Amino acid sequence: MRVTSVRQIRLRVLALATALLASAFTALAQPEPSPYVDNHSAKLDASDLLSLMEKGKPNVEIVVMRGSAPVVSFAAKELKTVLDQALGGNVPTVSSLSGDVPAIVLGDNAWTRTWGADVKALRRDGFVIQRRKGMKNVIIIAGRDDPRVDPEKAITGGAWEQLYERGTLFGVYDFLERFAAVRFYFPGDVGTVIPKLTDMRVPLIDVRENPDFSVRAVNWYSAPWFQEFKDNQDRLRTQNLERYRLRGDTVYTPNNHGLSRLGLVERFGQDRTDFFALLPDGNRDNDLTKPGQHGHLCFQNDALREEIYRDAEAYLSGKPATSRGVVHRYGNVWDPNNCQPGHFCVTPPDGFIPCECPKCLPFKESGKIGDSVWQFTAAIASRLQQNGVPGFLTSMAGDAYRAVPDVELPENVLVTLALTGPWGEVSATQQAKDDQLIKDWNAKLVPRKVWLRNTMSDADQSVPDGVPPISTKSLAAYYPRVGPSILGAFIETDTVPFLSDYLNWYIYAKLAWNINTDVNALVKEHHQRLFGPAAQQMSEFFARLEEIWTSKVLGQTVDTPTGPQRQRLTELDIWEKIYTLAEIEGFNQLFDAAAKKAEKDEIVTPRLAFFRDQLLGSIVRGRDRYMARKRLVEDAVLDALPLAEGETITVDGSLADPAWQKAEPVRMVTTQDETIRKPVVTTTVRAVWTRDYLYLAYDCQEPRVGDMILNDLPRDGDKMWNDSVVETFLNPSGDRQGCYQFILTAKGCLADVAHTRDAEGKLTGDWQWNCEVQAAAQVGEGRWTAEMAIPLKALGVENVQTGTEIVANFTRARHVQGVPREEDQKYTVSPAITSGFLEPSQYGRVRFVDRKPPNESVVRNGDFEGGETLESLTDWTIPKDAIDKGVVALDTDVSCDGGRSLRITNVLEKQIQDPPYGCRVAISQPLPDLKPRTRYLLTFFFRIENVEGPNDGSACGASVSIWAPGNFCFPQSGFRGSEAWTKQGFEFTTPPEAGPASTIKLLLQNANGTVWFDDIRVRPID
Ligand SMILES: [Zn+2]
Repeated sequence: MRVTSVRQIRLRVLALATALLASAFTALAQPEPSPYVDNHSAKLDASDLLSLMEKGKPNVEIVVMRGSAPVVSFAAKELKTVLDQALGGNVPTVSSLSGDVPAIVLGDNAWTRTWGADVKALRRDGFVIQRRKGMKNVIIIAGRDDPRVDPEKAITGGAWEQLYERGTLFGVYDFLERFAAVRFYFPGDVGTVIPKLTDMRVPLIDVRENPDFSVRAVNWYSAPWFQEFKDNQDRLRTQNLERYRLRGDTVYTPNNHGLSRLGLVERFGQDRTDFFALLPDGNRDNDLTKPGQHGHLCFQNDALREEIYRDAEAYLSGKPATSRGVVHRYGNVWDPNNCQPGHFCVTPPDGFIPCECPKCLPFKESGKIGDSVWQFTAAIASRLQQNGVPGFLTSMAGDAYRAVPDVELPENVLVTLALTGPWGEVSATQQAKDDQLIKDWNAKLVPRKVWLRNTMSDADQSVPDGVPPISTKSLAAYYPRVGPSILGAFIETDTVPFLSDYLNWYIYAKLAWNINTDVNALVKEHHQRLFGPAAQQMSEFFARLEEIWTSKVLGQTVDTPTGPQRQRLTELDIWEKIYTLAEIEGFNQLFDAAAKKAEKDEIVTPRLAFFRDQLLGSIVRGRDRYMARKRLVEDAVLDALPLAEGETITVDGSLADPAWQKAEPVRMVTTQDETIRKPVVTTTVRAVWTRDYLYLAYDCQEPRVGDMILNDLPRDGDKMWNDSVVETFLNPSGDRQGCYQFILTAKGCLADVAHTRDAEGKLTGDWQWNCEVQAAAQVGEGRWTAEMAIPLKALGVENVQTGTEIVANFTRARHVQGVPREEDQKYTVSPAITSGFLEPSQYGRVRFVDRKPPNESVVRNGDFEGGETLESLTDWTIPKDAIDKGVVALDTDVSCDGGRSLRITNVLEKQIQDPPYGCRVAISQPLPDLKPRTRYLLTFFFRIENVEGPNDGSACGASVSIWAPGNFCFPQSGFRGSEAWTKQGFEFTTPPEAGPASTIKLLLQNANGTVWFDDIRVRPID
């Protein structure tokens, strides 16, 4: 079988070569004629119609002849499922023609062959549909099918199990689309259009279809899906059936991860360190335990070439992986990622790091490291050729080896080219460059052609969840243009939720099958078929989404020295300037109008509700998440007091100066990516200002001062952040596009760096930048302390006065030897920080005040620090019953800032009754200070563990409620499940009569489990 498949590919290559040669003689100004025109022919003759319905009932049988391939039975099942629904009755499946009713005969067999249904002449995945004169009442649908695979079993398997021919099944889908107006837009009833027919007549048919692209792959296997799956089998069945119905490809040419799947580090990492890339630090890249992708190679190493040659030879000659000692996570087998029948992939490991050995260095220094990689490929390929080893060596042209190399590539080398593809259409210069690269590669590979790996990788870095990348026009412009020059494309945007992307997949599937598909007509038809009476409104909705995506999200390109680059947008741009509240309001109006138009349509009405919730809803939810985070950020304020007249601060690392005693310490929290959110040590920061300096004092609890990681580093030393450090980040311009960073280690080593956002949107640091910052640290008993005096003028901050605010954050990285990883934590003042500190959009502010600001919160003792026992917590009312039964406690082990938190546990078992609310614990505090008709912000930290209750519709879970008067409950439904420490922010407006009866309550209601509360604040918003 392997041999056959290789021969088929050779034949295809030859056929393409002929087509290319023919096109080479056409004048340059003319578009290249498509080599694909012969793939599609349809002759329909309506002079003789066959009716498949009689008196409103189906009048047709499906014939699966004995001995047919399992694919044929599966195709019959799919045909029957849809026809039963479309024709409104039971369509029988039989094993021989009854002769009484019209028949649809499926599959390639002796009988269909006698009627001239010749599948041998088809390309892979091709099919014929025939109803010839003289065939009377018989329709034949037949394609190339793999006789060995049963789709019923394969469909619940992984991607590799879908690599089998199923032409008859593809023919069935085409038949249903063509003659029963069925459309498979996305899985499920909502995404499948099966019109109820009153009549179904088919003409004389002579349809022959072959796909234009042999590579027609879309990767949605890891995309967030829109529906719940019963189990993994259900997920695979749904996703694979979608692949079948869109007639996705059935063959995989390996192009990715090649050399990383041979277990080279495991096999040679110890004895042949010279196989691995020599790194700038003098080590070889053979350490897979280091973070990131490792095991990068020295492509000039002859002994490595020998080993890879032997691996390729063994695989292509049918020898087992054990014969070469190949190891990887699946065991001693060839990995289907890089080994497919007749193909062996040698793409370098992901995240390419060049070797700097004496042989490789000249390639790197001349900017031709790619040539070194392709020399390696070419050398192995020509040896395979010389030794008569059949098959191809495949590799991807991407990363540092994407350019066409100055290397001859033997004919048994096949190349995938990694390009942005349709998502680069917005930049004409970018596309001209990319199109040229396709041409140049094809010229290098004559008579072969490249195929593409098109990823939205540029975009997915900065496009937040919820923004739908609708790209029908870009797809329509791109694939018909480059189609004649490629064998197909694998397209990937799998971080985007499936439903935001399904229309792209559908359009791409149709283009990949036939590059001359009229995309505009297809999109128009999509709106009509799915939304009927509301097609106009929904077509406006989709058009607007696409316009926003193309012109506002993708459209901002800037020229840089390395070519045009898409400008990276911040979430602020997306949610405050692009998807504004007004824009969302406009969408809601469109949906309202659509709902009205379709109110009598029982199929379209739930479909509109689905799209409103799923597609518009994903935008709204994305915006809500951003707004919630923004409230967190605005809440992260460090107040700096003025240095009193006559007072001084000596920057020596000691916090003994009297000025520090007056300043208010702010406690840091752990960053959001910490798996255990409880800080194992406490950290505070205080600030004091003069006209010239911002003074900062850090107080870092550290029970293991002797184990702190501390190196002797020069000013601006390398990787200083890996030591025990505190850091100050200031963005005086407030644009959140850059910042000044000050790093201070517990040993007193200092770095100051100026970061700016470059044209590509990346932050780059200028480590040469220095200012007259003074900084010192002292290590004491159980803690270390640090002081910084930052000269404000050096940051461009003039005329500091009361009321000045600077975007800022203050952080600590613990970095202590010998503690478990989860205790080696990072801390931050701004709770919005997710992982990296260098993210100005997530910073809070430092505010220059003239006196200690009054606590704006109307909640007293909201951090539970005002007393060591529950009894001394007099600001809060705790039911005596709950104290007696141990349901409520002050927790010093679990708190968000290292102090105390309030814990409520196990309500149902302890039976704390609070009529009429049922079983609940309510810790309350009167709020006499609420002003009427005023907007307030409630913020609090909470953490929950196994909060579960009966699903009987009663209020259940953990929440904070405010009676103002009138009840506000945050969140409405209660928190359930388990969550790490999370800060929440909610707004509410008091009614006209707010006053003395107002109360705040911390609740655990009708649920088992544990909730912790901390740092509860309610303050008016100006
Ligand atoms: Zn090297």
